[in-house]
This record gives sequence, structure tokens and C-alpha cells, in this order.
Amino acid sequence: MAKEVILIKNGELALKGLNRGTFEEVLIKNLRWRLKPLGLFTFRKAQSTIYIEPQDETVDWDEVSDRVAKVFGISAFSRACVTEKELSAIVHAVTTYLEQPLRRARTFKVEAKRADKRFPLTSPQLCAQVGEHLLKVYPHLSVDVHNPEVTVWVEIRDFAAYIHGPQLPGAGGMPVGTGGKAAILLSGGIDSPVAAYMMAKRGIELAAVHFASPPYTSERAELKVKTLLQQVGEYAGHTTLYIVPFTHIQEEIGRHCPEELFTLIMRRFMMKIASRIAEEKGCGALITGESVGQVASQTIGALQCTDAVATLPVFRPVIGMDKEEIIAIARRIGTFETSIQPYEDCCTVFTPRHPRTRPRVEELEQAEQKLPVDELIAEAIAGVRTERM
Ligand code: ATP
Ligand code: MG
Repeated sequence: MAKEVILIKNGELALKGLNRGTFEEVLIKNLRWRLKPLGLFTFRKAQSTIYIEPQDETVDWDEVSDRVAKVFGISAFSRACVTEKELSAIVHAVTTYLEQPLRRARTFKVEAKRADKRFPLTSPQLCAQVGEHLLKVYPHLSVDVHNPEVTVWVEIRDFAAYIHGPQLPGAGGMPVGTGGKAAILLSGGIDSPVAAYMMAKRGIELAAVHFASPPYTSERAELKVKTLLQQVGEYAGHTTLYIVPFTHIQEEIGRHCPEELFTLIMRRFMMKIASRIAEEKGCGALITGESVGQVASQTIGALQCTDAVATLPVFRPVIGMDKEEIIAIARRIGTFETSIQPYEDCCTVFTPRHPRTRPRVEELEQAEQKLPVDELIAEAIAGVRTERM
């Protein structure tokens, strides 16, 4: 089998407004980490292209390109076959490497690029020669230079010739780590994993905070959150999960506060605790999966009440999206099936029958005076469990 590589060209980087050196360095670091379980790879930058070359020829290329397709910072990439810079070798490589797409197509064209000007044929000559040969081997094909079903790329570069077919779509966005760090409040629901994915796409490295209320919430619910984080991690990379014991706080709210304010007081505790953890771990913002009007705790008034206690900016990337739009993303990134598993979340356990949709901050502050807020927060933070994901 021919030697394969992945080529990511400059034009395929989503580079905007960032220093190219840093961008590429972080991107390569992320690619390296993502491909590590699949074998040894060499990463090379030359001629405004990042080359990913396996050191082991038996590597699973489908898995490699699946993984590359989930690394943010790349808008497109190509899987290419490497061959000697000789016409006969090139023609042979094109015929075999692109056999499948060429057999399925009716029309094609050849595009050649010659970065190595010592190559004896000009680009048009090379296109003509390769094209002529393909017409002989695959007589069902005809050339269409305007709208071909398959474009055959032949690139003559410094060290070798590279043959590839169509470009594959990348994940877009910015390399994770180039945008700083933020803490996602991750429930087991549909929205927060999508919110995490969306901010990671902007280059933000994630830490995750999950509030667990055992025995009201089960161990399965916690496992579900970890699974979600792993799934999001296929895009977002490494994360640390902070699991906050929330039972005592919820019980105290239940015991001392008016029922219609339960959810909001609980959410204010979440914001305060998440802010503390986030600041301690070097995060510059919080992220939630809230969407205006989706539930009583997500009206503008309710959001004002929760925002009031956050000490960092709160990013809500799905704020203006319909549930259907959020679900479409959840399906695409592979979190939906996990999110709809029916384990109790701490929010559903203590849901008031008639939640307030037009709360006032003063009212909440007054209700909270019945609670030893600082002690409860200190206790919760002391009980945080940390898991590297
Ligand atoms: P999701 O589908 O993300 O659970 P939701 O529509 O169920 O969202 P809520 O339960 O009101 O909405 O939660 C709103 C946001 O608050 C969530 O998107 C998440 O960011 C955060 N959140 C809720 N519950 C928890 C929890 N147990 N741990 C961490 N964050 C939570
Ligand atoms: Mg929820």
C-alpha cells in the first residue's frame, strides 16, 4: 500500500487575528495529543503546510482522519498519497490511490501544483500527461475542467510528490488553548455539552463543574456527565472535572426558603461556587447551556438574578437557539444519545411546582439570609472531587 500523509495547508487554517506561530504551535500540540493513541506520528511544517506522517505504515487511516476532522483550527484537510517525483511513479500512484473515486465518477480533471521548480514538466504538461493516462485506464471517464465530479491533485513539493482527491471538511474554529480558559457548568442535559463544544470551538480550553446531590442523584448520573465530557473532549481535548457535593445546600434551601424561589436560589449557589472554582483554576469566564425562555429559571429576570452573583463573565452560547437547533448540534457531535438517558439531575429533584418567573434580586437576597451561605459554600468547596478527563 502506498504511503499516506495528511496535509493541512495554510489556506485551510482558520487563522484570523492570531499570531501564526502560536496558532500553529497550539494546533500541532492538539493534533499530537489527539493522534497519540493511534501510533507514532511526525509533524512537520514546510512550504506553508502542516504534514502529518505516521511512523508506522499499519496505522488506521480512517480513524486518523476522523480524529483530525474534530480538531478545531482546521477548515479543511487532505489525505494524500506520497510518491517519488517521477512521472511514471506519479501516474501509477494516481491510478491506484484514487481508483475508487475515479471508478465511481464520470468526469474528472487534474490539477497540478509545482512548488519544486526543478521538476522537468510544467504544471499544464503534468496535468495533460496524467489526464491522458487516466483516460486510457478508465475509459468511462471524460474530462470536465469546469465542473468535474473528481479533481485529482498532483503536488510536486520539496521532498516528494503528493497525490490527493477532494479535501475533507475540518471542524473549523480556533485551536483549543488559543482563547484562554473557561469553566462550563455541566449538567447531564442536552444543552450544556453543546455550549461546551461551542466555546471550545472558539479556542477556549475547558474546565467542567458538575453539581451532584447524592443520594437524590445517582452514581449513574455522574457517570453520564463523565461520558458527556469525554464525548465533548473529542473536540475540546483535555478537561478537568470538578464534582461539587450539592446535597446539603439543596436540603437547606428546601428547609428554609420559599418553594417558588428554590430553583433560583440553587442556581445562585451554583454561580457563586462555580465562580470560586473557576477563578482558582485560572478560568476567565463561566459557560452555561441556558437559552432564553426555555424554562422558568431562564427568563431575562431570572438570568439577571443569577448573573448578579457571578464574579466572572457568563458565556451562554445557546442563549438564542431553539431546542431543535441545540439538538441538531448535539446529534452531530455525538452527545445527544447520552444526554437523553433518564438519570435524575439535581435540578429536577427539587423543582418547585410554581417557580417564579419574575423574581427580584432583593427577594432572593432576603430569602438567602435565612441560610449560612458562606459556610455552605466553604463546605461544598472543601468537598470538591477532581477528575482528570
Ligand atoms: P441542560 O440541558 O444543559 O441540563 P437545561 O435546559 O436542563 O440545560 P437547567 O437545568 O435550567 O437547563 O440548567 C441550566 C444550566 O445550568 C445548564 O445548561 C448548565 O450549564 C447549568 N447546570 C444545571 N444543572 C447543573 C448541574 N447539576 N451541574 C452543573 N451545571 C448545571
Ligand atoms: Mg438540566
